[in-house]
Amino acid sequence: MENASTYDLLIIGGGQAGIPLAYALAAEEMRVALTERKNLGGSCVNFGCTPTKAAIASARVAYQARRAAEYGLKIPEVEVDFQAVLERARKISGQSRSNIEAGFESTDNPALIRGHSRLEGRENRGFRVRVGDESVLVRQVVLNTGTRTAIPPVEGLDSVDFIDAGNWLEHEELPEHLAIIGGGYIGLEMGQFYRRMGSRVTVIAGSSGRVVAREDEEVSEALRSLLEDEGVEFLLNTRAEKVERDGNGVVLGLSGEGPEELRASHLFVATGRRPNTDDLGLESVGLNTSRGIVEADERLATAVEGIWVAGDIRGGPQFTHTSYDDYRVLFSQIAGDGSHTTRRVVPYAIFTDPELGRVGMTEREAREAGYDVEVMRYEMKGNGKATEIGETEGFIKVVANRDDGRILGAAVLAAEGAELVHAYIDLMNAGAPYSTIRDAVHIHPTLAEAIQSAVS
Ligand SMILES: Cc1cc2nc3c(=O)[nH]c(=O)nc-3n(C[C@H](O)[C@H](O)[C@H](O)COP(=O)(O)OP(=O)(O)OC[C@H]3O[C@@H](n4cnc5c(N)ncnc54)[C@H](O)[C@@H]3O)c2cc1C
Repeated sequence: MENASTYDLLIIGGGQAGIPLAYALAAEEMRVALTERKNLGGSCVNFGCTPTKAAIASARVAYQARRAAEYGLKIPEVEVDFQAVLERARKISGQSRSNIEAGFESTDNPALIRGHSRLEGRENRGFRVRVGDESVLVRQVVLNTGTRTAIPPVEGLDSVDFIDAGNWLEHEELPEHLAIIGGGYIGLEMGQFYRRMGSRVTVIAGSSGRVVAREDEEVSEALRSLLEDEGVEFLLNTRAEKVERDGNGVVLGLSGEGPEELRASHLFVATGRRPNTDDLGLESVGLNTSRGIVEADERLATAVEGIWVAGDIRGGPQFTHTSYDDYRVLFSQIAGDGSHTTRRVVPYAIFTDPELGRVGMTEREAREAGYDVEVMRYEMKGNGKATEIGETEGFIKVVANRDDGRILGAAVLAAEGAELVHAYIDLMNAGAPYSTIRDAVHIHPTLAEAIQSAVS
């Protein structure tokens, strides 16, 4: 039998749950190892949240500089240095990754093992796992392997180069005309980014008839119209069926309401995420997946005792903050009193400008769930601070339960919307009625006054 290192617990994947969990369990005297096949920090640090928000910040500076005359200033011309914008984003992402690497270099518990990991079956009272060339014996396993771009069934996609959420930072050339397949949050955030950098952008939004289709229609429509005002073009009720190379660019064959063909210099595929669970050896321990998702209960325990799951592959919300919360659940289950459950209020944001901060149910979801809903709406143009800073676009929509005044969900489409929505998030966690904010005193002049105005 091959020699093997032994650990109490092995975490497969250095994502948003795995890293803090590794340190927390090691501090409890467990012998812990974490394996990573590529870059520590996973999607968020290396190509997701961190660099996208850094790049979006550059795009906002460009946009605001172009609006200088509205504020009484003269900026003759705004020149975008696209490579420098990417370099700034790479630097911020790299710094974050280096901090994580330095942490592992300074300790041997948790140990870091580099390489692709695959379960090889049960052994003794635990599991054997192959990590690159190494074999590891462990009592418990946490799967935190994240996702990659889901490739849509577009004929010819395998024979053209395309940009996606995983490789955009390496594409140094600013597209002259970027076609984006997908009108979800990545498509919108990146579409506005490239547009503000100077590209012509066309979003092929699919068959739902609108962008970010989970949102209430008025929110989807407002987002689309805001981006259209900046020159982003949308093809609604349109699907990409095939693609082929066309000189230095691509030509897409479309179906639906849009044109039959779209020529573009570059293509960005943003059609969702696919779990990295197809090469994990799950079958060797009898674990099933459903569309790549590893099913787990509210403790994040899988059907196989001793194997836990965290982050995007466990089904449900796929965000950094929910993955991080999985770490708290798992720590409580593995080394704590098991009290922490996944019953959580889940917020998220779309980092367009203005941002969409969201929490809880949409109006449609609340009505479908049978609530007697009270809907409140407030236009940001009524807010003093928004007018003073020249950012009056957007609105706030709050959906409350008429019976007890508790907030069921909120959408804040506004400058700093992702920050502002936290007032509603905290209220929902406290189980307090919206009158708590209505009857409070907020500072004048602030955008936060709008949070209050919306429920007054
Ligand atoms: C473009 C983009 C923008 C985003 N923006 C935001 C945002 O603004 N806010 C937000 O909350 N979320 C955002 N997300 C989502 C967020 O990045 C993820 O939800 C978050 O990273 C949680 O991931 P995770 O913990 O499941 O795993 P990940 O962070 O994806 O990490 C999984 C790790 O496992 C490794 N791995 C996979 N298989 C193996 C294996 N077999 N062996 C060893 N290692 C393996 C991978 O290399 C990876 O490093 C964004 C995502 C993208 C793509």
